[in-house]
Amino acid sequence: MSTTPAIIDTHCHLDFAVFDEDRDQVLNRCAINNVQTIINPGVTADTWQRTINLSQSTPTLHFALGLHPQFIEHHQPQHLSQLDTLIETHRPVAVGEIGLDFYAAQRPQSNTGGKNPESSTQANREKQQLFFVKQLIIAKQHNLPVIIHNRKAHDLCLNLLSDTVVAGGTIHAFNGSIQQAHKYHEMGFMLGFGGMLTYERSSKLRALVKQLPLSAIVLETDAPDMTVSAHQGERNSPEYLPFVLAAVAEIKNLSVEQVAEVTSQNAQRIFNLT
Ligand SMILES: [Zn+2]
Repeated sequence: MSTTPAIIDTHCHLDFAVFDEDRDQVLNRCAINNVQTIINPGVTADTWQRTINLSQSTPTLHFALGLHPQFIEHHQPQHLSQLDTLIETHRPVAVGEIGLDFYAAQRPQSNTGGKNPESSTQANREKQQLFFVKQLIIAKQHNLPVIIHNRKAHDLCLNLLSDTVVAGGTIHAFNGSIQQAHKYHEMGFMLGFGGMLTYERSSKLRALVKQLPLSAIVLETDAPDMTVSAHQGERNSPEYLPFVLAAVAEIKNLSVEQVAEVTSQNAQRIFNLT
């Protein structure tokens, strides 16, 4: 795939320990595949420094910092002031990964002992919303875009984004309706699509990509999760981004060069990359 034009992975957790053994080799293969830039969102306060360090020692990697909704039990109020301070010091490309995961909040919580699952779900959702809004406010104060993770809460997310207007961002692994996609795009957001697109069975996602203008789309892998069909069952990797590029080109009946150019420009604009 050495002829692939330059592309940007707008969502990859290359800082995760699962890449510790072969991160340099992964980055070498990214270079061969022309994955020229990777955005690495941070997920918890105790891993932010590691995310920053990795990015500072890797020219193609840019970091974001945030408190991910899937790790909501770990997040403490003081992490928000730490986030503010780190943004001031290190100027990430975005605040993220932040958002609402109401799918995770539905799952049985290990710490309830089977008691009161409903109130536990409610408390979990309220805490997610609180941390999401506070991080939107931090992003707004620093004039930074946001990287949003959202499952089963797009309408609420859209409402919260109209209450606190930020400098755009990405809706990572978008899987909502076409109406919701248009609303996000009108608010200055890009919709991120990844490995799931490479599966023929992903008919809803493929229909979304077909209907959306290319100006609303960015590419991502979400590695190490959600791998492409050609590497099913394996750890996902940013080096596989050309498969996502090829899927978007095929669905939209455009050349890979055209999709690469426009989606890279979209990512550069949203994250102010030069
Ligand atoms: Zn992620």
